[in-house]
Amino acid sequence: MTDRLTSQKRSWNMSRIRSRDTAPELAVRKVLYRIGYRYRLHSAIVPGKPDIVLTKFKSVIFVHGCFWHRHPGCKFAYTPKSREEFWTKKFEANVRRDEVVKKQLSESGWRNLIIWECETKSSDIIENLLRGFLGENG
Ligand SMILES: [Zn+2]
Repeated sequence: MTDRLTSQKRSWNMSRIRSRDTAPELAVRKVLYRIGYRYRLHSAIVPGKPDIVLTKFKSVIFVHGCFWHRHPGCKFAYTPKSREEFWTKKFEANVRRDEVVKKQLSESGWRNLIIWECETKSSDIIENLLRGFLGENG
């Protein structure tokens, strides 16, 4: 536990590149499990290889990094001052890819929820988002 803050901070930084088992993702999985849902991870059979897949509910959850996926209005979705054009292009490509995935998902009947990295700082917020999303399934 002594390493807790440091490793959380490290994961926060690392989550800015696409990787598995990031702190935000683990936080969502933990709440999901606690409120009684069972899930699969990174299922390759679902478009976009979502972070969390709830097969029974035909629902998927993405835990998006605010920086890479451009959380609208979020302070973490800033654009670095140097090489601005490079970043802008990169971000546009990411956002476009996310939109394509969303479309593919809904066309094949999968519901999707995006939880932003900054929202995963609070387990209450995570729980509300999950209940709001999954509650609709009865
Ligand atoms: Zn954010």
